[in-house]
Amino acid sequence: MRLLENLKNKSKQAAIVKGADYIVRYIQKDPDKHFDTMMKILYSLDTLFGNKGRFRTFMEWTNNNPGSRIWFTNLMTREPGQVSAFVRNYLGNCSLKWMEIADETVEKHGFCPPYSILVSPTMRCNLKCKGCYAESFRQDDDLDLATLDKIITEGKELGVFFYTILGGEPFLRFDDIETVAAKHADCLFQLFSNGTLINEDVADRLYGLKNVVVAFSINGTREDTVYMRGNGVYEKVLDAMALLRKRRQIYGISLTLTSKNYDTLMSREFLKFWEEQGVVFGWDFLFMPVGKNPDLSLMPTPQQRVSFGEFIKRYREQEPFYLMDFWADAPAINGCISAGRRFLHINSNGDIEPCIFAHFSTHNIKDCHLIDALQSPFFTFIRMNQPHTDNLLRPCMIIDNPEILREACRRFHAKPTEDGAERLLHDPELMQAIDRYSEEASRVIDPVWREKYTYKIDSMYARKRSYGEGIDRIEYKLNRLPFLEKIKQWAQENPAFARAMLDGLEFSSRRYGTDPKRHSLFIKPVKTKQQKEDELSI
Ligand code: SF4
Repeated sequence: MRLLENLKNKSKQAAIVKGADYIVRYIQKDPDKHFDTMMKILYSLDTLFGNKGRFRTFMEWTNNNPGSRIWFTNLMTREPGQVSAFVRNYLGNCSLKWMEIADETVEKHGFCPPYSILVSPTMRCNLKCKGCYAESFRQDDDLDLATLDKIITEGKELGVFFYTILGGEPFLRFDDIETVAAKHADCLFQLFSNGTLINEDVADRLYGLKNVVVAFSINGTREDTVYMRGNGVYEKVLDAMALLRKRRQIYGISLTLTSKNYDTLMSREFLKFWEEQGVVFGWDFLFMPVGKNPDLSLMPTPQQRVSFGEFIKRYREQEPFYLMDFWADAPAINGCISAGRRFLHINSNGDIEPCIFAHFSTHNIKDCHLIDALQSPFFTFIRMNQPHTDNLLRPCMIIDNPEILREACRRFHAKPTEDGAERLLHDPELMQAIDRYSEEASRVIDPVWREKYTYKIDSMYARKRSYGEGIDRIEYKLNRLPFLEKIKQWAQENPAFARAMLDGLEFSSRRYGTDPKRHSLFIKPVKTKQQKEDELSI
């Protein structure tokens, strides 16, 4: 039966691989005219992917908004070889193959493989930007080529075909990145870069690879960039974009929202400018209190988070620019995606961290298999507590629900992987400041959640469960076999892993039941003795 399923999936993949070039050629011939046919083809993929609504929802959104229609056409009309590779790798491997291998991985190993692995091959950088945490890391550790290759090879065995490369500055290691991207042509690579090392030669090599896209980190306006990064950097970024534009490459930007650049990032003119430079996608990050001496005054206020999230949702519907915010868009992916639920991060020393901002680790890729890290009690405990709260607009275990990160690190002796990270666990002043921030976030963002996300709350009611999305995924993949029975089976192979699952569940239920700040949707208020007696006497 499994063999038959695999054969079916393999023929679907083969169809996508073969069909990608044809689809891209077809739409590029006359994008406006062929848009609707293209949509029909993509709608039909939902059947191919088991009618889970994955493609339907996204395609409906693309079809129904003026901005996203143009955005999609812009994307599909970039350099044909790169677009074909994107369609092939994204649909065939990052989606279909991932789903197929994910089923086997859940059954066999008890976790759903992440969708993407983030890797920082170096923490060295040619710039020294204000507020960047890269400097807190050791600068003499670089992941060698063999380790980079090992990460991708093991990742692919688990179904991971999407690799995000950051740092430090990835283009300081471009030779090695080029080697692995060429070797693993069935994967997608996204490079977060300051852009200053992209010259004609590098642009030609990127053009040759096809499966690599660049996301340029942008601070704000020219003045902001001079202040944060120094003279000449802004111009170099524009030059690098021009080189990629000349080669019709797909590229994006990454932004960090701070309390200080909020007005700039909220301006349509600012985003329009980058759109005009040929940018088609963007990631927004919040300034996080990590690194040696984080300036907490730079953290965007909860109100700024809400307003910015709403602003970019409107913007991407109206304009051809797909901008995403990890925090404000978290409801779409059911909260925090760390600890392997959707991603994990491997730093330049090989330490495997739950997330790019959570600099703690119990495993190192140089002396373990990826499976060991994904089954580690540290990661498992975090996953069992996802989402960390009922309100998916406050997803984060670092700034919104700090007790989760603290508890996981304490229980499993996770070691800090950069100078200063331990302050998040032991510095009373910093911890109190983050607690205050998290309480304020709850006060400001919870009413927004209750007012605007009733459809999400309703679906939580329907599931009779607000927490444990990790568990839901596993149960779903196991065709809802009794979860506890399955844990017993995994416990035979890895008792510590199974123990962490149970501990995680126990901690999660206890916390939901007792923390009034969480405004739990499901836990009934605890009745007083008097109330109980009154009930009995009725
Ligand atoms: S810990 Fe925070 S920053 Fe990291 S994945 Fe979760 S929500 Fe995002």
